[in-house]
Amino acid sequence: MRSIDDLEVAGRRVLVRADLNVPLAVGGATPVITDDGRIRASVPTIATLAERGARVVVCAHLGRPKGAHYAERAAAGLSLGPVATRLGELLGRRVTFAPDVAGDTACDAARALADGDVAMVENLRFEPAETSKDDAERGALADRLAALAELYVGDGFGAVHRKHASVYDVPSRLPHAAGSLVLAEVGVLRRLTKSPDRPYVVVLGGAKPSDKLAVIGSLLDHADRVLIGGGMAYTFLKAQGHAVGNSLLQADQIPEVLRVLDEAARRGVEIVLPVDIVAATRFAADAEHEVVPATEIPADREGLDVGPRTRRLFAEKLADAKTVFWNGPVGVFEFPAFSAGTRDVADAISKVAGFTVVGGGDSAAAIRSFGMAPHAFSHISTGGGASLEFLEGRELPGLAALEEP
Ligand code: ADP
Ligand code: MG
Repeated sequence: MRSIDDLEVAGRRVLVRADLNVPLAVGGATPVITDDGRIRASVPTIATLAERGARVVVCAHLGRPKGAHYAERAAAGLSLGPVATRLGELLGRRVTFAPDVAGDTACDAARALADGDVAMVENLRFEPAETSKDDAERGALADRLAALAELYVGDGFGAVHRKHASVYDVPSRLPHAAGSLVLAEVGVLRRLTKSPDRPYVVVLGGAKPSDKLAVIGSLLDHADRVLIGGGMAYTFLKAQGHAVGNSLLQADQIPEVLRVLDEAARRGVEIVLPVDIVAATRFAADAEHEVVPATEIPADREGLDVGPRTRRLFAEKLADAKTVFWNGPVGVFEFPAFSAGTRDVADAISKVAGFTVVGGGDSAAAIRSFGMAPHAFSHISTGGGASLEFLEGRELPGLAALEEP
């Protein structure tokens, strides 16, 4: 893959596909960015290009606006405007914002750029074609996006697993290179798949097992231990024959869970499940709750965090690790009463003397919400889905497109 150092950018318009998909608190007069980690991670590539005299046009998506047409989607309020403002503050440069994706105002903004200037176009997903399964539809949007610039830089790691117009189709239309974020992320993930130092411990949490079972399957090739918490743990407990009350359950995944457990046993990979659970009366920050054995979750309760014995067990299983990959909070960390498990996992990983990688938007947001320093970990990935698919060994469309000459 070429890097931006291989591109002659001075005086030329460069379209940068960034990942600026930040969490927003809507409801107030103006939406508030609650975690700007992905914007910060996108700064180095954009700043370097601008310093080298490029005319930078940034494109990115935000959320999942719904509707059949541009206007309907734009009405949903997911404008990238506030993100452009924040990017400008972090860059220390003015970022002009075009209120459309690849229409007249976007073209005008791109043409008005002087060397070293930065513009951003509106949320790519206001254009239904961005995510279309139809090659021709995506291609037509890619033509318009490509017309904004002379060069393309793919730096939106969190989106490289998507076969979307701005990720997959534009690079085939312009001379292209990978941004520094994408190169850094790929470097870290390669290290996890090529002879990691042992013991290699993986912690998996998050909401749904269906998102993560495939990766567990391929991690069995590499990992020594897999600790499972979060919403996905209950499908594992259920598969082992325990009642899980009202906890999150994906019953259709039980056969796959059993297959994974069987495969792990055959290969001598240790799977560590919660032994106690913080069980709540309902899914709410102020729900009544108590600690119960993981094998005895009452019928009218749902597990929202791992209990204190599990927190100690997970910390012990992490203590001697030389390599750690963590994806997914082990509890509903957004509610303070159910954040202790995730906080303790983060804390235990920060103490590991080895190579520690955190993947996943919510896991990274959890770390920041605990006020932990990012350098307590070797690497915090900006892409949850993308890093998981990479570890699964799948070909990622956005990376494949950047690899093409
Ligand atoms: P990441 O973004 O780090 O990959 P996921 O998106 O897979 O993580 O999952 C994050 C979500 O999982 C969080 O919003 C968290 O509240 C939720 N979660 C964790 N544990 C539970 C649980 N026991 N029940 C319901 N949701 C949970
Ligand atoms: Mg997530």
